[in-house]
Amino acid sequence: MNNQIHEIIIIGSGPAGYTAAIYAARANLKPLVFAGPEPGGQLTTTTVIENWPGSIEGVQGPQLMINMQKQAEKFGAEIKMEIVTKVDLTGDIKKIWVGETKYETKAVIIATGARSRTLDLPREKELWGKGVHTCATCDGFFYKEKTIAVIGGGDSAMEESNFLTKFADKVYLIHRKDTFRASDIMQERTKNNPKIEILYNIEVIEYLGKEKLEGLKIKNNKSGEEKELKVDGLFFAIGHIPNTEIFKGQLDIHETGYINSKDNVYTNIEGVFTAGDVVDFTYRQAISSAGLGCMAAIAAERWLDNQ
Ligand code: FAD
Ligand code: NAP
Repeated sequence: MNNQIHEIIIIGSGPAGYTAAIYAARANLKPLVFAGPEPGGQLTTTTVIENWPGSIEGVQGPQLMINMQKQAEKFGAEIKMEIVTKVDLTGDIKKIWVGETKYETKAVIIATGARSRTLDLPREKELWGKGVHTCATCDGFFYKEKTIAVIGGGDSAMEESNFLTKFADKVYLIHRKDTFRASDIMQERTKNNPKIEILYNIEVIEYLGKEKLEGLKIKNNKSGEEKELKVDGLFFAIGHIPNTEIFKGQLDIHETGYINSKDNVYTNIEGVFTAGDVVDFTYRQAISSAGLGCMAAIAAERWLDNQ
């Protein structure tokens, strides 16, 4: 048991968590940040970030996150490289556990992010960023005049396929069924895009290529036929899994796993705020997450002031 009652604890160290930490630290709240299983968050798994404002040449994701960490520490944030395993958000003093150690705090910001669902096929991790991607907005630019495959049948798959035709010469949209769950308008737009070829009832069963992705082995799940499809890149659009498991039963959480909020910042519990990809299923960008981190910290600061 840690005897101190903190003003604010931030769970998560992605752009949302660290931005919240910078704001809370500059407001003299001495935030304690738990960095979690992926210190620095999703951007540490990628290379150059070209849509972070202010960096004309782009900035490497891992470096950007080290900078954010140092900036938060400079203003007095304490960062612990630990994973929160349990929370009790009821009552005026919230309780947060890291294994057996309990921490107490008046306010909490949840910025635990979300992870993209992937196929988890062999060699997926090796090919990560070398042809295998989860974010078209982030990495589509690298596929000018190339051939790309997108997997999925929801609105994200439609949106990403259409977006990727800005760069690629050809986009295969691979779906495991023969009907889409995407909205009619998104389906129409996709079907009318001459650069997109839709492959129905198809599953990807193997990644081809050694150093980088060079193709996919695909299988028709109706006929059983298998063949190879030559592609330069693959983008998953098969949903996201918000990291909300430890909050279930306490916070109001949507059936998709995202935190239900007001303004993407206020949860259903007083003193518990949220920010970033764990609550925002629409934009899911570093800058929008950072923006929400700022908003959550200001909201928390005002709420603490009023107590
Ligand atoms: P995350 O970055 O997901 O961070 C979540 C944090 O929560 C992590 O630090 C994790 O350790 C922590 N956490 C989780 N569970 C716990 C726990 N139990 N206890 C403590 N901590 C916990 N966006 C762009 O704008 N531009 C890009 O170019 C770009 N490229 C991308 C490339 C890739 C490969 C990926 C995967 C994403 C990319 N994105 C990009 C999206 C961007 O990374 C996310 O939108 C952003 O990181 C979300 O920030 P976040 O702080 O909400 O969450
Ligand atoms: P989604 O609606 O959950 O769709 C996920 C798709 O991935 C489904 O077609 C699903 O197939 C497929 N899938 C899941 N697991 C798979 C696997 N292991 N292998 C192959 N395919 C798999 O997710 P989303 O498209 O990200 O959308 C999430 C929410 O955001 C939705 O409410 C959506 O409307 C919204 N959204 C809206 C817009 C927009 O309006 N512009 C854009 C993006 C997202 P099955 O169909 O077979 O289950």
